[in-house]
Amino acid sequence: MIDINKIWQETLSNLSGEITAIAYTLWIDNLVPVCVKDNVLILLAPSLNAKMTVNKNYKDIVRKALSKTKSSFIDVDFIIDEEKSFYTEEIDSFHDNQIIINSAPPVKKQSQFIARYTFDNFVVGESNKLAFHAAQSVAQNPGSAEGFLSFNPLFIYGDVGLGKTHLLHSIGNYLSDNLPSKKVLYVATEKLTNDYVEAISNTSSSDKSAFNFRNFREKYRNVDVLMIDDVQFLQKKTGLQDVVFHIFNDLYQSGKQIILTSDRPPKEIGTLEDRLRSRFEGGLLADIGTPNLEMRVAIIKKKMIHEKIAVNDEVIYYLAEQFDSNIRELEGALTKVVLYANLINKPYPDINVAKEALKNNAPKKEGMDSSDIINAVSTYFRISKNDIVSKKKTKDIAEARMIAIYLVTELLNLPLVTIGQLFGGRDHTTIIYSRDKMISLVKENKETARVVKDIKALLNA
Ligand code: ADP
Ligand code: MG
Repeated sequence: MIDINKIWQETLSNLSGEITAIAYTLWIDNLVPVCVKDNVLILLAPSLNAKMTVNKNYKDIVRKALSKTKSSFIDVDFIIDEEKSFYTEEIDSFHDNQIIINSAPPVKKQSQFIARYTFDNFVVGESNKLAFHAAQSVAQNPGSAEGFLSFNPLFIYGDVGLGKTHLLHSIGNYLSDNLPSKKVLYVATEKLTNDYVEAISNTSSSDKSAFNFRNFREKYRNVDVLMIDDVQFLQKKTGLQDVVFHIFNDLYQSGKQIILTSDRPPKEIGTLEDRLRSRFEGGLLADIGTPNLEMRVAIIKKKMIHEKIAVNDEVIYYLAEQFDSNIRELEGALTKVVLYANLINKPYPDINVAKEALKNNAPKKEGMDSSDIINAVSTYFRISKNDIVSKKKTKDIAEARMIAIYLVTELLNLPLVTIGQLFGGRDHTTIIYSRDKMISLVKENKETARVVKDIKALLNA
């Protein structure tokens, strides 16, 4: 029996010296051998962009390295997660002893918490240390554990992009690792609102309606830890506020932990019932402020280690200075620099590449025009701008064109006839067709959605 992991390890060692360390880390190191089909080694890439990049730039090198191993494999092929089932099904129906399935598929338990949002991945500094320590303390002793200072509720507030949701998920991850018997529920206020609206409407009989409502309340009452994210959205929703008040009291009285976040302190949430406001203020209020320069640098460095990417100090400081008020934007800028650097084949982005990547990073959208979009699509797919607006029907070109048309319709406010002219004098019905086709593809197909997201990231849209 051939062990494909072993063959792949051998291939990797043959590759060393053939490509740069950064390219190795970015594109090769994260490939996972899945199976062999017709003597072709099938490798799983982590994203569509990764798959396209290895296909275009590294396939020959990988094939060559593979040919030097002690295997009879003749080629490699790259797939993404969505394509995996196709191969697994194929294998089942083939019963071909040529086919070797990787015997160690890591099955991860589904969790409601985002894995990378942990206490370990959270950089602590002046601006967030109270919120961080309170969150940690609550995770270790949820509820009104005797003998401990109880922070119930814990109310964390601060501007958008400063780590509130990250802290809630860290608490959730900590509890599922260390106190798995605790029932923990995380809910964003929007989701809570939808659940509530659904529970009180949509029924013909009042019996059914009462039943739905009871179910709704039970779901939120029957937990040890309830986290409600972004409670500023309770504003003006008096019916829901009333329900939250009762859920809150039930939980509180039975010593269950409640954690809330908001973009502002309770007293600044307009039209919040007084009795609910005083509940929210009854525990610990912890605010998160904007991080200072050292913290921002530390956050970038942590993210680099986590994502296995490399940029030099000059770039790190440039980013940390430019993006000083929102960590999500800071992270987005780093991703964008790395993505852009790879697209232009400069895996070690220097300050000029970083500036280039972020050059139209200012408040966007209004300033964006169709040529920005066509440019970005062209860079992403490595297909010339002329081809994108041409009549060529090659699959790659046609796909890139559809995405460009879709993005133009979505991001710019242009008449369809004008868009038709931009794309080589096409009829407006063709534009409608492309747009609608893409709308459903983005909805149904994860890889298309990811491509669109990547290109939007390039455009800052
Ligand atoms: P909020 O909920 O406050 O809007 P998020 O929790 O979604 O913000 O954080 C936005 C992004 O910034 C996330 O990717 C998060 O991991 C990151 N982030 C925020 N604060 C920190 C921090 N102190 N250390 C590391 N990453 C952080
Ligand atoms: Mg949030």
